[in-house]
Amino acid sequence: MEHDFTLQQDSELRFEAERDAEDVSLKLLDGKAEIFGTELAPNKQYTFLPGAKVAVFTWHGCRLRLMGKTTGTYIATETPMVMYLNTHGCLERLRRNAERATRSSDEASHARGPICMVVGPGDVGKSTLCRILLNYAVRFGRRPIYVDLDVGQSSLSVPGTLGAVLVERAASVREGFSQEAPLVYSFGDKTPSSNMTLYNILVQKMGSDIHAKMASNKKVSVSGAIINTCGWVMGDGYKSVTHIAQSFEVDLIIVLDQERLYNDLVQDIPFIRVLYLPKSGGVVTRPRNVRATDRDERIRRYFYGLKTKFHPHTFDVKFSHVKIYKIGAPELPASCMPCDMKVDDHRTKIVPVEPGNKVKHCLLALSMATEPADLLTANVMGFICVVDVDESAGVLKVLSPHPKPLPDTLLLLTQTQFIDSA
Ligand code: ATP
Repeated sequence: MEHDFTLQQDSELRFEAERDAEDVSLKLLDGKAEIFGTELAPNKQYTFLPGAKVAVFTWHGCRLRLMGKTTGTYIATETPMVMYLNTHGCLERLRRNAERATRSSDEASHARGPICMVVGPGDVGKSTLCRILLNYAVRFGRRPIYVDLDVGQSSLSVPGTLGAVLVERAASVREGFSQEAPLVYSFGDKTPSSNMTLYNILVQKMGSDIHAKMASNKKVSVSGAIINTCGWVMGDGYKSVTHIAQSFEVDLIIVLDQERLYNDLVQDIPFIRVLYLPKSGGVVTRPRNVRATDRDERIRRYFYGLKTKFHPHTFDVKFSHVKIYKIGAPELPASCMPCDMKVDDHRTKIVPVEPGNKVKHCLLALSMATEPADLLTANVMGFICVVDVDESAGVLKVLSPHPKPLPDTLLLLTQTQFIDSA
């Protein structure tokens, strides 16, 4: 199947690659166009992952050829792209101000560019807006940091993680931003509400890491950071949004598609600029089961790769060779607690876990911590998955991106499960 489309200026072609279609591809025949901020080269064939939901936008008009099995294909003339571009313009002004301030100051420390966070309910295009703003920044020669705090759909590692990466190149149309050497913390679950205390600690830690990175490099400092957040914005979710804003010393909060959230933030944090932007009509809502499938797919890609097919290793590890811990213990009634222990402490308690059937199919994070006490705030070097457990032989069978032996690190148990059907 092959279709040509002619797009007028300021319009976009939206389509969804079918879930079973490996061969959906697109060519820019004439004019200029971009996909979520990544400029397309003329006559180059771009391919898409099965299930990808795509918008090809043009500022000046173009001709496109779409090939393969797609659904929901149409041209939209109403898009919020001008507003998104203006927002980029605002951020760029702040970057230029930072640049000027750095040039005119004798101090060794650099003036800081904008730290901007994108908030809003689920499925309003937060990740997409982050991608657009980061791509525009890179196209202007900037080197911004992308921080993804959305543990449900973590884009920089497996689900259940918080990640950050320095963006040096525009996102690949097919695979998104390069994930070379991201900084990753394992939260271990898909929603922050399962352990708000831990989530807030990791947010705080990530915030101080980002500030340290910016302080160490002028270009990065001037470029600033873009933070993606979870779609949980009511009740404790709202508190979490304000906590992130404080931890990262955010300069600008962009609220997508929820006026109430916008008004609450304007009232509650008057010292931070808050901007309301509408969502794009093209953003696709994902039901719960689709999100679950997407999470599984992300884990599968972690182990098996995308373009370059990885060959993960499966090997046995003796129970006696692993030290597994988890964060959080069951809550004790206040009357049973020692008088010097805070009620919250059970959520950050580091508990040893005996290897056994209960860790089957779970992902284990390889922590950078050398002592159990450091596990709470240490970043992780990667993940393995327990594919099988032989309790009688005292052996775990694990799936690992690296060959054996396992590095001699402490392992952190997560609630994220993966059934390896490869
Ligand atoms: P979450 O609730 O997971 O945080 P989100 O608010 O970050 O979601 P996105 O992931 O950005 O939302 O968008 C949801 C889906 O809609 C994505 O698959 C994205 O590719 C698609 N999408 C975004 N904008 C458009 C558009 N203009 N046209 C077509 N599809 C789009």
